[in-house]
Amino acid sequence: MEIKPEKSGYGFDTQRLRAGYEPKEHNYAVSPPIYQTAAFDFRDVEHAKALFGIRELGNLYTRIGNPTVGVLEQRIAALDHASGAVALSSGMAAISYTLLNLAEGGGRILTSPYLYGGSADSFKKIYPKFGITFDIAQNILNPEKLAEEIKPDTKAIYVESISNPSAVLLDIDAIAKVAHDHGIPLVVDNTVATPYLYNPIDHGADIVVYSATKGLTGHGNVIAGLVLESGKFNWKSDKFPQFSELYYTLRDIDENWRSFLDVFPLAPFTGRIRFNYLNYFGAALSPFDAYLVLIGLETLSERIAKQVHNAEVLADYLSKHEAVEWVRYPTLKDSPSHDLAKRDFPRGTGGILSFGFKGTTAQRETFLNSVELFHYHVNIGDARSLIVNSPQTTHGELEAHEKVVADIPENLIRISAGLEDVSDLIADLEQAFKKALA
Ligand SMILES: *Cc1c(COP(=O)(O)O)cnc(C)c1O
Repeated sequence: MEIKPEKSGYGFDTQRLRAGYEPKEHNYAVSPPIYQTAAFDFRDVEHAKALFGIRELGNLYTRIGNPTVGVLEQRIAALDHASGAVALSSGMAAISYTLLNLAEGGGRILTSPYLYGGSADSFKKIYPKFGITFDIAQNILNPEKLAEEIKPDTKAIYVESISNPSAVLLDIDAIAKVAHDHGIPLVVDNTVATPYLYNPIDHGADIVVYSATKGLTGHGNVIAGLVLESGKFNWKSDKFPQFSELYYTLRDIDENWRSFLDVFPLAPFTGRIRFNYLNYFGAALSPFDAYLVLIGLETLSERIAKQVHNAEVLADYLSKHEAVEWVRYPTLKDSPSHDLAKRDFPRGTGGILSFGFKGTTAQRETFLNSVELFHYHVNIGDARSLIVNSPQTTHGELEAHEKVVADIPENLIRISAGLEDVSDLIADLEQAFKKALA
């Protein structure tokens, strides 16, 4: 939906509790109700016509919109300074609908090499079958040279604000400028950062995607995704005729066809995802899951702040450990991302850190088998601390040379810091190191 501007001027912490929801519109319920219904009655035939022509935005069928899901869309849009938002049933749905909406019918996407494993795999293996091909940028860390890598049919640049697992930071402002100089949008996956740590739209991003499964919800109990847009990109160009084309579904009162730009001037991108991809491909978020994300958002700031604290302490502990070859965490002094961390991340750089285990493969495996408090699995952003050997799991599909480009050495172990007492986390790692090295 196009987003109602927040009249409040409230700060971030107030908005994550209040934006997009008025108790008086919902029987004065304090907590947003779960509208667990598949469909909504029409008032009369005129109302049905108006809803079907998308002349009036209202509740029709939960696959394309639902009041509980709508609160989540409004709330995240307020936190991210977005003009439009659409919630989907997973982060992968958010990414796939975004890429199809940009490059359906064929085109190229220029990407960062530092990507989530599921993104990297699908970009290589699935999208080319739909005519969408990916160029992995050589110069993502040197945006002044990035322009050379944009081809005539490049439709967008795609990056992660904090990459997973290596926590690489990028100069999003500079990359956005290169994209805009070439008339293409910048898409940022902001999953690891969350809007608490980083606002991609304020730094020039045109589209933001999230896996809300991770830090946004923060309790490891839901799979959800979101797409947001800035409302600033010029979609009228010849590169993106899909936003100016007239559609049968978008009829005015005289039954004339209209375009997504006519109907959603401030949110054509998410409007088109909703009424094309969500409507017809169908990865709808359930109202109950939207509710869980909303509950998670209520404590976003406190959770992420504590995760940042725990990650910083763990990074410091690991940097001094004899069984650790290296540690990657952006605020460490020797990190290549250190300057960007200082410039763009005043609240810290999140809960993800990784380290190189110094020892044999067997010792590394004993180490992982010996952790007791850390959970050994592939999620991130949970309230519980998680540990995983990314190169053999989440990024196991990458070939050896691709792991080099993505900077994922075989001995990498990734940690997603949770909310426990950090002394307990350190004690757990310490006993696991002892067992591994015994
Ligand atoms: C987990 C993740 C995704 C995919 O999200 P799902 O909700 O699991 O589908 C996309 N991007 C990043 C950075 C992720 O960590």
